[in-house]
Amino acid sequence: MAEDNPHVQDRPASGHQVLVVDDEAGIRRGCERVLRSEGHQVLLAERGERGLEILTRQPEIDLVLVDLKMPGMTGFEFLEQARRLAPETVFVVITAYATIESAVEATKRGAYDFIAKPFTPDDLLRLVSRCLERVVLIRERNRLEAERSRRLLELTTEKGRLRSVIDCMADGVLVCNAEQMLVLYNPAALRMVLEMPEGSEAREIGKVLAYEELAGMIAEVSRDARRLSSEIRVRKESREAWFLANIAPVTDPASTLILGTVTVLRDVTELKKLDQVKAQFVNMVAHELRAPLAAVDGYLVAMEEGCVEDPVKRQEVLGRSRARIRALVDLVSDLLNLSRMEAGAVRREIKPQQLEGILGEIAELLAPLAAQSGVRIEARIEAGIPPVAADREELNRLFTNLVSNAVKYNRKDGLVRISAAREGPYVRVSVGDTGIGITREGLDRLFSEFFREKRDETQNVTGTGLGLSIVKRIVDFYQGRIEVQSEPGKGSTFTVRLPAVAP
Ligand code: ADP
Repeated sequence: MAEDNPHVQDRPASGHQVLVVDDEAGIRRGCERVLRSEGHQVLLAERGERGLEILTRQPEIDLVLVDLKMPGMTGFEFLEQARRLAPETVFVVITAYATIESAVEATKRGAYDFIAKPFTPDDLLRLVSRCLERVVLIRERNRLEAERSRRLLELTTEKGRLRSVIDCMADGVLVCNAEQMLVLYNPAALRMVLEMPEGSEAREIGKVLAYEELAGMIAEVSRDARRLSSEIRVRKESREAWFLANIAPVTDPASTLILGTVTVLRDVTELKKLDQVKAQFVNMVAHELRAPLAAVDGYLVAMEEGCVEDPVKRQEVLGRSRARIRALVDLVSDLLNLSRMEAGAVRREIKPQQLEGILGEIAELLAPLAAQSGVRIEARIEAGIPPVAADREELNRLFTNLVSNAVKYNRKDGLVRISAAREGPYVRVSVGDTGIGITREGLDRLFSEFFREKRDETQNVTGTGLGLSIVKRIVDFYQGRIEVQSEPGKGSTFTVRLPAVAP
């Protein structure tokens, strides 16, 4: 007998678990017999408290029949607690008098139905079968609900992940539906091409996109289902930018219907600028090469056609040609130097170098050139200045450029002063001259490639306009600094500070 023993289970697995809570032994046994004959597992409790114990252990019980009137805990009290223990279970109350009030009260407390005593086995079976249908429905509903929540959670997590990835992208992303409404965009796209406050509702792309051209391209992709890739030039907040726009259609794989478009925008402004600088540079180089070549060509033609018969004149023309060719060779070696530095392909042998020797040699080497225009070079090197860690060749190039400029742009019988001294963690080298000086505008552009001041005083001075850009690159490489002080008509002083080697 299964009375009071919830562990007695001898029914087919397909049956349901039914708990009968009634103080009347006859009702308990009657129910047990009828229900077991139908293949259900029946558990019995003669009091509410006992019923609760069973439910605590087995909350999966499908159906509970509970008598309303029992000694101790009433059926209503039982119902209230039992429903919390087993929320999926269906409860039916057994009443002695089937009154409307008790039925309503029982429903309020969570009972699904009621049955009045006395009842026939058929009454009971009909009721139980109705209730069990309900059990199945409840279980199915709960299962679907749980499944839906799980799916929703998965979807939300997946969507959140995707959103974070898109939001973090440096490229701008715009997703439009087939009606040309903007349904998704990231902060980068907002910054690049959209004109709307962040978090705005979906809108017509043509209205929120600051660039008609791009809106037109998106519409075209949406219409023709063809990928498009194009560079667009935009102007936003007085800044000009270039974006590479890749627009792809999104189609439904089953119907091949166009669902919308995805646009990815890459900021290529820096690359564009580099391209422009490169083109400018090539243009300038070509220009700089052409002038001396054309001059030499002209001299050669003149000689070939016998226009320069006079040996003295001949000599002069040859001399000019050589000077032009030498200038060309200088230009080409400056260009090579620059390009090696740009490409990071300079081979350096970095070791402590004594500037004293280097500066002395330069002064000596350039003295004859200076003497041609009566310029004197004076070197004042402080004794015992610390060495600097650098490549000797590069230090040579750096100071030769500065000293030769000081000679070239000097006045007749002027002076070039080279000084070197220790200054804190640096060695400071100054190259001063008493020459033509540099204008305010000239100072701003002094270190750019090919910059040369076009003044009457510089007309006859040859040069490439690359020397100071090489100087600047060398100083920067060694983490030094360069300063210029100049006054037109009076002279200029270039001061270089390079980190000294610690003693
Ligand atoms: P280059 O001397 O070959 O023209 P640089 O790059 O050395 O090229 O110098 C760029 C320009 O800066 C010169 O053409 C000249 O106008 C100006 N400049 C450089 N050094 C001096 C200087 N010491 N005094 C006056 N002008 C100078």
